[in-house]
Amino acid sequence: MANQTSHHFSSVMELIDGNRIAADIVAELKTEIATLPARKPCLALVRVGDDPASVSYVRKKEQTAAEIGVTSRVILPPVSISQAELFALIDQLNADPEVDGILVQSPLPKGIDEVAVFRRVSPDKDVDGFNTLNLGKVAQEDETGFVSCTPAGIMELLARSGVDLKGKHVVVVGRSLIVGKPVALLALQKKAGANGTVTVCHSATANLPALTRQADVLIAAIGRAGFVTGEMVKPGAVVIDVGINRVPDASKKSGYRLVGDVKFDEVAPHCAKITPVPGGVGPMTVAMLMKNTVKAFRLRGT
Ligand code: NDP
Repeated sequence: MANQTSHHFSSVMELIDGNRIAADIVAELKTEIATLPARKPCLALVRVGDDPASVSYVRKKEQTAAEIGVTSRVILPPVSISQAELFALIDQLNADPEVDGILVQSPLPKGIDEVAVFRRVSPDKDVDGFNTLNLGKVAQEDETGFVSCTPAGIMELLARSGVDLKGKHVVVVGRSLIVGKPVALLALQKKAGANGTVTVCHSATANLPALTRQADVLIAAIGRAGFVTGEMVKPGAVVIDVGINRVPDASKKSGYRLVGDVKFDEVAPHCAKITPVPGGVGPMTVAMLMKNTVKAFRLRGT
């Protein structure tokens, strides 16, 4: 297993290698796409403005698409685009028979209602899984829907690392529409690999450390660097760190480095398995986007 970090821990701790697992999924998709006779799946990537994190996420999505034979169409409206103009753009993509999947990169500029934009994407092209219908299908355990990429990636990481949630206490910190809520619903599903007993925490939760300490599987999706400390984690727990936070670092050319929501150095030594940042959940998000794009292509039957 390629160890992305320079840390050395006791042999009982296992680093969950998101880069390797995502590469396996991407390779599986590449093989599948190579068998398609004619038209290849096509993903439209809409990035409004120049938010630096969005620029790098969209670039990565474009690169992975190219690597596996998914056609991508990158659309870069200016930050000044109005909500009505953005709706019109999405309507065009919804109606375009060549486009299988549509992703509108979050965050959108202030003044644009992000949830309304997510709703505008046609449910059968909603590879990000944020449309009302697809979120509802997660709750109904309807497999014809699209599960949003980061929560789906977390479930896939757990499954491919041999972690079965049945009978486990899963504690999710964060209740966003993008990560916390859907991953809690997925962990709760009545199906193989899931069946967790789920607690969801947020900023109004009282005595959060007492809850996180009960977790057999702890999923941190908070957006605060190093929020989860060693004393908040039960020895032997599985820890999934979703956070991607930029902290200033003068030694880096970029001037920053990426850290998770978990204090890795404190937590890793006494947990059973942990995802690093970077190289944990992040690459899985992109892999699951490609998986959803291929699924959209197949469901559209073109
Ligand atoms: P949001 O900001 O939308 O949600 C953060 C959640 O954390 C909220 O529910 C919030 O509670 C909760 N929270 C914030 N502060 C506290 C606190 N002090 N105590 C308890 N709960 C708290 O973030 P996202 O869910 O979109 O993202 C979370 C992190 O994951 C970010 O670092 C983001 O960059 C990263 N991310 C990574 C992805 C990947 O591919 N790996 C993809 C998407 C996100 P409340 O609801 O009460 O405000």
